[in-house]
Amino acid sequence: TILLGIETSCDETAVAIVKNGREILANVVASQIDSHKRFGGVVPEIASRHHVEQITYVLEEALQQSNTVWEAIDGIAVTEGPGLVGALLVGVNAAKALAFAKQKPLIGVHHIAGHIYANRLEKEFEFPLLALIVSGGHTELVLMKSHGAYELIGETRDDAAGEAYDKVARMLQLPYPGGPQIDRLAELGEEAIDFPRAWLEQNSYDFSFSGLKSSVINTIHNAKQRGKELRKEDIAASFQASVIDVLTTKTVRAAKEFDVKQVIIAGGVAANRGLRSALEAEFAKTSIPLLIPPLNLCTDNAAMIAAAGTIAFEQGRRSGLELNARPSLLLK
Ligand code: ATP
Ligand code: MG
Ligand code: FE
Repeated sequence: TILLGIETSCDETAVAIVKNGREILANVVASQIDSHKRFGGVVPEIASRHHVEQITYVLEEALQQSNTVWEAIDGIAVTEGPGLVGALLVGVNAAKALAFAKQKPLIGVHHIAGHIYANRLEKEFEFPLLALIVSGGHTELVLMKSHGAYELIGETRDDAAGEAYDKVARMLQLPYPGGPQIDRLAELGEEAIDFPRAWLEQNSYDFSFSGLKSSVINTIHNAKQRGKELRKEDIAASFQASVIDVLTTKTVRAAKEFDVKQVIIAGGVAANRGLRSALEAEFAKTSIPLLIPPLNLCTDNAAMIAAAGTIAFEQGRRSGLELNARPSLLLK
């Protein structure tokens, strides 16, 4: 099976071609980060316009890179949600136009299913599998007992992990996106401040990051009032330590409770060096294999959409030309 994947849910315009859900033939990503930087975050209207401008070029480049002819492509997978509605619409409509013009099956894909399936481009899945999803809009623990079946066992009750990174980065006057900036600073800092860890109820696999965020604001504010300037490196290191502590502890506990054969991590925050090494160290103490995708497959791309779409395609799932953007689509 060869699928063409399209992803435009946020601020990257991406097209990829993937064979059998595992082999990347082309993976082209046009990022808009520079256009959103001066606003300190993604501006939906600007994102949509960029997608419209970029999509045909990105598509052409993916086809060229892969050396694939249309005859060889079995279907078109596209992110139908969740995401920014105006951004999603560009990808969905491009996919529908191509499906119609080239007479190919169309498959709508959940963006987070894509993030999960980015891991399968590296290694075959073994079930039951536990996925820790940490991205700009999601923080979830998902249990999978078979392909395409997702059981939510925990999720954030307020901010997503990536959102917390971006907000704290903004307080520290670091450029957007803040996650990678904090990651870099944290390596230079000391864990000098004891920020809270939100464990929630004893058996809960849910997360909460808004208390931590408030604690960071208050700490910076109180220090200023006392005429003291805290080192940004130390704030970053201490904030990151709290996030990583909770994510790692809950993931290890869930992996043991559900007796999984594999743990995977997904989403933009999975690119975090501190998180990657903490998870590696903790899972090394268990007999459960941990899979960590390469950095370029953690953040938004279309190879992951084609990979997730391949499973749906092989299970016989198809979308009609009435497919629409679904900004708050749930993972089921
Ligand atoms: P979602 O996938 O939930 O719809 P999204 O697509 O915007 O949201 P991703 O592209 O998966 O999110 O990830 C972007 C997020 O990852 C941003 O919040 C960014 O700050 C964060 N991020 C990227 N690299 C790192 C890093 N090294 N450390 C921490 N956070 C990071
Ligand atoms: Mg993005
Ligand atoms: Fe994403």
